Amino acid sequence: MPLRPNKTKTNPLLLGVTGGIASGKTTVANFLKDLGAPIIDFDVIARQVVEPGTPSFRAIVELFGEESVDRDGHLDRKRLSEIVFQDEQKRKRLEGIIHPRIVDTFISQSNEIAKKVPDAIIQAVIPLLFEVGLQHLVHKTLVVYISREKQIERLIKRDKITRDHAANILKAQLPIDEKAGMADFVINNENSLDETKSQVEELWKTLIKFQKQNKIL
Ligand code: ATP
Repeated sequence: MPLRPNKTKTNPLLLGVTGGIASGKTTVANFLKDLGAPIIDFDVIARQVVEPGTPSFRAIVELFGEESVDRDGHLDRKRLSEIVFQDEQKRKRLEGIIHPRIVDTFISQSNEIAKKVPDAIIQAVIPLLFEVGLQHLVHKTLVVYISREKQIERLIKRDKITRDHAANILKAQLPIDEKAGMADFVINNENSLDETKSQVEELWKTLIKFQKQNKIL
């Protein structure tokens, strides 16, 4: 369980939202947002913490040299991923630079929200929550589930890629069935958006109940 700031009267409930690629994390997070749960998106934070001029940017350029910077002066993410794909040690060092700053940013953003809405139910959308082992940052986890076959179908349709390419992308992720087995809540997003929305509404009621029972006195 993450630390709750017990010197203040804030008591946010942090829900980690994850799933597989194209399983519907954004879709479900937007439904929950409409019901009142603000979103903190780890993909967005991951880009913010390496913007030019940030401490992470400087540390990365020091470690990887000028080849890690593109013509516009931003990090060349494609180049970096090629380098760390072949070098496990460098991958760990890169993660060692970026991950702590992502976590710090997340904590300060959630504290900011909780200052305004003390009992907010905050969504942390973290695509690689289980792979990176970030469960300790949140109180509850939600997996947005679709079968592997449906994932392939939606990837082909959305990203206009071949079946082989889609299957290769999936190989790099923990199988979605395994993730579903680890989660506190699972939403099945294989069917219509209306069906997904009804499940989200039920989940929202559960989260509100949980939040009320769990108040810090
Ligand atoms: P990524 O992993 O790439 O960030 P994601 O998990 O956030 O994706 P979404 O972007 O929400 O997934 O959905 C992936 C695609 O599937 C989108 O094109 C979306 O419109 C579509 N989609 C989501 N839910 C459904 C549904 N229930 N029925 C049909 N299409 C859906």
